[in-house]
Amino acid sequence: MSWRCNVSRTLGVSPSSERFCSVIGHRTVMSSLEQEYRLEYFEEENFVRRECSSCWAHFWTRDHDRELCGEPPCEDYRFIDDPSFDEEYSLEEMREAFLSYFEDHGHERIDPYPVAANRWRDDVLLTQASIYDFQPLVTSGQTPPPANPLTISQPCIRMQDIDNVGKTGRHTMAFEMMAHHAFNAREDAEDDYAYEGEVYWKDETVEYCDGLFESLGADLDEITYIEDPWVGGGNAGPAIEVIYKGAELATLVFMSMEQDPDGEYEMKDGNRYSKMDTYVVDTGYGLERWTWMSQGTPTVYEAVYPEMIEFLKEHANIDHSDEEEQLIHRAAKLAGHMDIDEAEDMETARTEIADRLDVPVDELTALMEPLEDIYAIADHCRALAYMFGDGIVPRMSARATSPGWSSDERSDSSTTSASTRRWTNWSICRPSDWNTRTAIRSAISSAPRRPNTARPSTAAPGRSNSWPKSTPEATNRSRSTS
Ligand SMILES: [Zn+2]
Repeated sequence: MSWRCNVSRTLGVSPSSERFCSVIGHRTVMSSLEQEYRLEYFEEENFVRRECSSCWAHFWTRDHDRELCGEPPCEDYRFIDDPSFDEEYSLEEMREAFLSYFEDHGHERIDPYPVAANRWRDDVLLTQASIYDFQPLVTSGQTPPPANPLTISQPCIRMQDIDNVGKTGRHTMAFEMMAHHAFNAREDAEDDYAYEGEVYWKDETVEYCDGLFESLGADLDEITYIEDPWVGGGNAGPAIEVIYKGAELATLVFMSMEQDPDGEYEMKDGNRYSKMDTYVVDTGYGLERWTWMSQGTPTVYEAVYPEMIEFLKEHANIDHSDEEEQLIHRAAKLAGHMDIDEAEDMETARTEIADRLDVPVDELTALMEPLEDIYAIADHCRALAYMFGDGIVPRMSARATSPGWSSDERSDSSTTSASTRRWTNWSICRPSDWNTRTAIRSAISSAPRRPNTARPSTAAPGRSNSWPKSTPEATNRSRSTS
């Protein structure tokens, strides 16, 4: 069980922060951020604010007796073999259900952007979140958004999760972030911005999220909204993690602050922040996890690319007896504890799971490891298909002597940094740079079809030469982490 600090989570202050120990000094900050989560919607719907008895996080729930926040490692997955929406959805069906729900609620549907985010910004290589599409110029109010409010399902690639892929049952490196965004500017702002007034803010955002769950037939008493302030790339704001049946299905971020040495809020990166003139609803709903929730398969991978998993199992000669299959399903409910960011180490996490299942750890490891490898291969293939589809190709020459390509590291997959460095030794080409187009085409045609067939519109930055270059200052402000 991992320990999370109550104060750190509420404030967004990291326990390693020097100032963390002077709790009293933070009281004003705490109360003002706590206020940010006291929504009228929560009151109207008879939610209560509770403190998790395991990790001390604060969360909002309709269930007045609830003691745990719902998120692993505080709770196990509670939807495996127990699909938790009214119907089963395929990936395509879930994407459509999400986008049409938000269209029906006044949002315009926007085509996804490329996964090569460096086509429109200088500070990142890959698209890691839907908000990347609108940084830095739209979020800072210099350029109007393509629609306001809007909804999108954005293919993303996150290298930092690579060591969890296959093991936790829920992490994927390639995924689609479904989202709804609203871009607001303060009425009393002195400067002019590319959009004016408030479209909607926190109450409506949570209400939309709740409404989506309801439209899918979820048990609303099982949803928890955890207070978890967000900080990224010079911006910050209150944020809410949305947990259902042991899985984090969405994050609702209220980007409303910018770094300011004199700001009144101190956040988890140790920096101070003040309110901005623009404030942006930045949500992220994991398409794959919503699909998984509707199917209740042992892992997200079986829900998202079942044919690929079957193909790989067959070719790796993996065939399970009924008894083994049962054990896999039991282990799947506990796989959330295999999170490298939360667990002490993988061996301990596996041993604890084996103890709970009452099986020898060696037996469990021998059963699970080949499956975990297969899951990772399937997910890596999808990440590659995304990359090839947007013109990202491997490059061996220019950085051949960099640490990421040394012979030692090539055989070492144990650290995130090594694996991440290997992946980032890929170059992102503009189509005009390609001199190996035929090779790329054949690679794409043999890769799994990119699930979202919608291509970025001609207005999308990746396809247009007219997109303005970001200013260094704006880029700095919007540099984003996940
Ligand atoms: Zn908890």
